[in-house]
Amino acid sequence: MTVLLGCIADDFTGATDLAGMLVKAGMRTVQLIGVPAGPPPQDVDAIVIALKSRTNPAPEAVEESLAALRWLQQAGCRQFQFKYCSTFDSTARGNIGPVAEALMEALGTDFTIACPAFPANNRTIYKGYLFVGDELLSESGMRNHPLTPMTDANLVRVLQQQVAGKVGLADYKAVGQGAQAIKARFEALKAEGARFAIVDAVTNRDLEEIGAACDDLPMITGGSGIALGLPENFRRRGLLARHDAADALPATGGLRAVISGSCSVATQAQVALMAETAPAFVIDPLQLARGDDVVSAALDWAADRLSRGPVLVYATATPEKVRTVQAHLGVEHAGSLVENALADIARGLVKLGVGQLIVAGGETSGAVVKALGVTGLRIGPEIDPGVPWTTVLKEGGGQPLALALKSGNFGSPDFFVKAWSKLA
Ligand code: ADP
Repeated sequence: MTVLLGCIADDFTGATDLAGMLVKAGMRTVQLIGVPAGPPPQDVDAIVIALKSRTNPAPEAVEESLAALRWLQQAGCRQFQFKYCSTFDSTARGNIGPVAEALMEALGTDFTIACPAFPANNRTIYKGYLFVGDELLSESGMRNHPLTPMTDANLVRVLQQQVAGKVGLADYKAVGQGAQAIKARFEALKAEGARFAIVDAVTNRDLEEIGAACDDLPMITGGSGIALGLPENFRRRGLLARHDAADALPATGGLRAVISGSCSVATQAQVALMAETAPAFVIDPLQLARGDDVVSAALDWAADRLSRGPVLVYATATPEKVRTVQAHLGVEHAGSLVENALADIARGLVKLGVGQLIVAGGETSGAVVKALGVTGLRIGPEIDPGVPWTTVLKEGGGQPLALALKSGNFGSPDFFVKAWSKLA
């Protein structure tokens, strides 16, 4: 079977979110970091390419997205999704509108939807207005976002400012009546000359009906929620098997380690709990700044202990300690010193035979993934909401590696302890 769905995500964690959603909906999914040079991986139903294009200048975002589209077309994808944040994060110039229009032109299609709704995460759309919980988008914290402040909750207006084509609304009157009514509304909008429909959605059921109504659109745009309804379209056409285990990962063995560079509240509790029972090595940023060889010390320490069970290497510290370090070193210097050291330690641990690795922290994960030369991940079972196990895609074999990349505030206190049992 060829790849069915090709997705282009405008940031890394958004890509993971979407990939996890597709796996839960029964599609075997890989997440690729940037546009790959090589051929598509085998045995996948959906591919999500993670770009970092949300806040780039629009022409750059367009160019990268088009390159991703061309690669996904060559991989044989039948339908495409442009994925952005469920709060429609965009700058005044875009990039949602310009990227969507460029993708439509490349695909030769003149109509698509824009639906960032994700009711399970309290993002709903009614009469074209996006709500974050009980607040309008423009009254939520997003109005103060440092890079993409959202000061208008009316998505028809917001998108219209970013595109040349006309934007219309498929409102709840249609959505509440199901897929056929939504399709009819799309036709009516097209007849009025609209090229985009903002689509209302307040429940998961709405997203499923919208998904069904989009079965013949070459490309849709939206958040990760909108992907909920897409797999069923492929099943209905006999293109997608009912995989019992779309989240099955190739077996990984090897030693186990946790690396934590996150100082978020949830991570503090997770580090404290694991340190009660497992060997733990703390990284002191001031030692790093003095030029001590902390990386070798950590690896020598780990080499003596890894064979007896999971080890923890962490820089995680209380806000007071972090402030003291930052006052000495500066925020950015402290951050990059710690990130680089943890990334080197990750590489060293893999050399020591670690085959199952948990990394805590968004930036920390980025640094580790880069140091390990990871270009793609197969998405596996969820450990806690939003954090799946993955395995690193490797061309030409090599030691298999399972990675769990946990952003700061995700996961229950026993995350580092319980995660291993979800691996085969
Ligand atoms: P989160 O996902 O929790 O935000 P990140 O990894 O994205 O975690 O960010 C944490 C940042 O804090 C990283 O840049 C990391 O290097 C830095 N950091 C970690 N520990 C310390 C520390 N003890 N002192 C100063 N900075 C630290």
